[in-house]
Amino acid sequence: MSSRLKTFQSLGIDAYQLREASVNPDSIQQSEWPMIESQVSNCKKCSLHKGRNNTVFGDGNRNSDWFFIGEAPGKDEDLEGKPFIGRAGRLLTEVIFSMGLSREDVFIANILKCRPPDNRDPKPEEVKQCFSYLEKQIELVNPKIIVAVGRIAAHSLLGTDLPMGKLRGKIHGFGPSEIPTLIIYHPAYLLRSPSKKKKVWEDLQLVNDFLKDDS
Ligand code: URA
Ligand code: SF4
Repeated sequence: MSSRLKTFQSLGIDAYQLREASVNPDSIQQSEWPMIESQVSNCKKCSLHKGRNNTVFGDGNRNSDWFFIGEAPGKDEDLEGKPFIGRAGRLLTEVIFSMGLSREDVFIANILKCRPPDNRDPKPEEVKQCFSYLEKQIELVNPKIIVAVGRIAAHSLLGTDLPMGKLRGKIHGFGPSEIPTLIIYHPAYLLRSPSKKKKVWEDLQLVNDFLKDDS
């Protein structure tokens, strides 16, 4: 019994407690996670299911302000079932860390949940089939900011084929509610062109300024 209720009772005052609302919209939303996780792990909507060892659903903080979106699982991710754990993933982890966040603070997923053979680019048909899972994940996490990691993620989210040079350096809007979306170079590209790391850092400052303005 709460101490407030005890005090009321000792004073001889009848006190009533409100019962918890039996339907909490947040908990309904959260109960959707297991459903989409199981849909993804059983999915055969495109031919990539044939070659996979594991689906890579995405992981991290499901209530995060930050939603990072990569392209598709690579070899390591396919073997482990987790996003961004190979060499490029370690660099992305450093990028996240440089912003004062840890991987556990953010949510990370990919456009495709299964690995394309030899890490080839996703085909438009595969993106089309897989996209509803990502949309649902975005709806449930409800982030303040999306970070599209690399060209494929940027093109798939924004429905454009503009080059990266034209897409980075500003905040875009994703979906009907125009969720603020930043485009950064993919860490696999940064491993080949380390001089571009500075640009990623500059781009991430845009988000910090943006979140500051927002609060
Ligand atoms: N590259 C991606 O885009 N995503 C991963 O999960 C791993 C590498
Ligand atoms: Fe299904 Fe997506 Fe995997 Fe294709 S890539 S089988 S749509 S989960």
